[in-house]
Amino acid sequence: MGYFKTYRIDGATYYIMEALGVGAYLFLGEDRALLSDTGNGYMDIRKSIAKLTDKRLIVMNTHGHADHAGGNAQFQEIYIHPADMPMLDPAWQKSQTSLLFGYAKKAYPIIIPLLLFFKLQKFKKYTPAVKTIADGHKFELGGRTIEVIHFPGHSPGSVILADKRTKTLYVGDAVNHGLFLFFENSPSLKGYQAALRELAKLKGYEKLRVSHGTTEFPFDFIEYYADFLMRVTLEKSVLTDIPNGARPVFKYTEPGGKYSVPEICVHFTRESLEG
Ligand SMILES: [Zn+2]
Ligand SMILES: [Zn+2]
Repeated sequence: MGYFKTYRIDGATYYIMEALGVGAYLFLGEDRALLSDTGNGYMDIRKSIAKLTDKRLIVMNTHGHADHAGGNAQFQEIYIHPADMPMLDPAWQKSQTSLLFGYAKKAYPIIIPLLLFFKLQKFKKYTPAVKTIADGHKFELGGRTIEVIHFPGHSPGSVILADKRTKTLYVGDAVNHGLFLFFENSPSLKGYQAALRELAKLKGYEKLRVSHGTTEFPFDFIEYYADFLMRVTLEKSVLTDIPNGARPVFKYTEPGGKYSVPEICVHFTRESLEG
């Protein structure tokens, strides 16, 4: 069993998932391919890509978190929204990696010892040139356009990729069934639900694909999650052991209901609930 597992989403889109539950999307056009996220970077993701395409590759990060940008050093050039550029600072990435690692140790008790056995190989080849993308940026891949939607919240520079042709939004970590909104610069839950309702007004899309997991959500999940956020109370939440400085992280959970996930939850701080 390899560390990466590749899923075919449609004839020209693949999801390359790490054993640690995060994945990268590969969009193929007639002339070029777009890689959205580089993962944790513990193993060589380029080998998985080479099996799928030999087209010229454009590489981007949906946001700067270390489980999405950790493999940037395997590439010569990456695109990211400017608001998340500070996160590419090597010292910040390193601190995030150890934080994520502590979290992953509990969630993946078998894989982490294996990674340690392989000495946590970080495949560093380049110091990539960083290019910025703004809201509305279009990646032209030849017969296929992938458009960038800036959707701050999970991080200031989080972006969503819109694929009109397949009526799919690739939402990164910006929308999912286990949203993290406990960071220093996270918006209030109220503010985020308002932003989600705006996003839900987009026309022409039917489904969502997230970065963590293979679940496909119907487009109405955006509105559902906005409603869900309004039901969060501190009383109905539990305190988690996620290390977050002086600001404890709470988790509010509801059953997955009609969506094919066991539960729907949000991780937040007192500040993000009251703000
Ligand atoms: Zn993230
Ligand atoms: Zn993530």
